[in-house]
Amino acid sequence: MTLKKTPRHELDLPTPRRLVDGGLRVTPLGGVGEVGRNMTVFEHKGKLLIVDCGVLFPEENQPGIDVILPDFAAIRSRLKDVVAVVLTHGHEDHIGGVPYLLKERPTIPIVGSRLTLALVTAKLEEHKITPKTVQVKEGDEVQFGPFGTEYFAVNHSIPDGLAVALRTSAGTVLCTGDFKMDQFPLDRRITDLGGFARLADEGVDLFLTDSTNADVPGFTTSEEDLAPAIDQVFRTAPRRIVVSSFASHVHRIQQVIDAAERHGRKIAFVGRSMVRNMGIAAELGFLRIPKGMLVDMKAIEKMPDENTVLICTGSQGEPMAALSRMANREHIIEIGEGDTILLASSLIPGNENAIYRIINAFTRWGAQVVHKGNAKVHVSGHASAGELTYCYNIVKPSAVLPYHGEWRHLTANAALARKTGVADDQVFVIENGVSVDLVDGRSSISGRIPAPYVFVDGQTMGLATETAMNDRRVLAEEGTITILAIVDSTTNALLEPLEFFARGFVEEEGWEENANKAITEALAGAGPRSKTSADELEALMTRTIGRWLSRRHRRNPVVTTIVVDE
Ligand SMILES: [Zn+2]
Repeated sequence: MTLKKTPRHELDLPTPRRLVDGGLRVTPLGGVGEVGRNMTVFEHKGKLLIVDCGVLFPEENQPGIDVILPDFAAIRSRLKDVVAVVLTHGHEDHIGGVPYLLKERPTIPIVGSRLTLALVTAKLEEHKITPKTVQVKEGDEVQFGPFGTEYFAVNHSIPDGLAVALRTSAGTVLCTGDFKMDQFPLDRRITDLGGFARLADEGVDLFLTDSTNADVPGFTTSEEDLAPAIDQVFRTAPRRIVVSSFASHVHRIQQVIDAAERHGRKIAFVGRSMVRNMGIAAELGFLRIPKGMLVDMKAIEKMPDENTVLICTGSQGEPMAALSRMANREHIIEIGEGDTILLASSLIPGNENAIYRIINAFTRWGAQVVHKGNAKVHVSGHASAGELTYCYNIVKPSAVLPYHGEWRHLTANAALARKTGVADDQVFVIENGVSVDLVDGRSSISGRIPAPYVFVDGQTMGLATETAMNDRRVLAEEGTITILAIVDSTTNALLEPLEFFARGFVEEEGWEENANKAITEALAGAGPRSKTSADELEALMTRTIGRWLSRRHRRNPVVTTIVVDE
């Protein structure tokens, strides 16, 4: 057996040189090496076409952050060259960044299917932006500048998903977006492998394919297979049923509505995004709600519990969502003995603690919690290794760029590509910001630009930095101490004992006295004001107490010093 060295494409790459005339440059700005903020920029003949523009949700070590965006810096000076943003489907990790991009140039055409455009338009309305949209459907071909685009139906956990092919004089690229190959989806709209095969006959030079489930062997179970487990919940639940799911999972919610209909229960949607998205899906005919079945919260409160179903957001344990608030008894719906909670959703890595906290809280109130760990109430929206292998054999790409996934997913997907015969040096496991150039049908890495996180924090975008994140983590773990020093403005001598204000910092009694001693000694050495300014004095005190606490108490709180002259 020979050991093959993995080329570390991502390391030490220079900024890419000017693109060869007629070449196509592909640069993912997000979604490679992570699950979220999917965004890929295509450059050809001086124009840019973007596929997807999503957000990434923060983890526990990014306190206070609402969402994380791709960094638009790479394209900021070239926004006028952007001919279109093509959205493959309506998930937040594919459309959530659009409002922020359109704030920079509101006239960029947004391309997508009917449902995707309806969802993104509703989102943009909240940001007071009316987008310029181009609606497409499977089979459509539309030209945007030098890019010919064609759309193919794909099946995913949200309806109306599309894969997009880009035809350029440099070659043809196929982007799957998120997809799976469920052969029995509720809407009977399956991934268009026939279309993929037709494109393969023309030749696919570069294939960008969903990696999320590439390390899961076999085939993703059909949505249809969940029906018995969901029905079981409805058959046996003695009182109220509360279902939590992603606000975009139209098929899953359809299954819940169908079960509710069979068992004679009324439904109500809870949570702003759930009410909004299900309203859109129903209006466009993607969600079937039998007449008279949907009632509002006020009406459902007055009905007997055993006749009701609440469908709400918060399946990932988000603290402000309806489900968390119910678990904490901060919601008008009071969960108790005999109620059933159905978590009909995935468990996104990083959210485990929050979700188990909720499950425990509900259990404590006497409710029964049904989730993917104890019943078959969830299937993934992404193709597993078996489906991806079929895809490679049908598309027969010359080169492959696995995207949408963490490293382990990208690597597993790359292995599948190689196994089906894609040349080793034509499989690109890269990081965000690394560009692949397609010239005369052949792909190669051309360089790298920065693709850092851009944090959205309240109304600000990009102002919260990694340094701020670090401060927040230190504050959370160590607390803070503020020291007030009243000094003589000529001699720098302390006129009163130092005052310490500690928040979140805990130490045994008497620490202030010792700290006082350490600082007083340092101040004595500082000399008069002619030698040391008030600012320097503050820095000296901060440094002194910082070192003293670290040495004596192994503690590193955030220290702020204020010098007041008398
Ligand atoms: Zn998706």
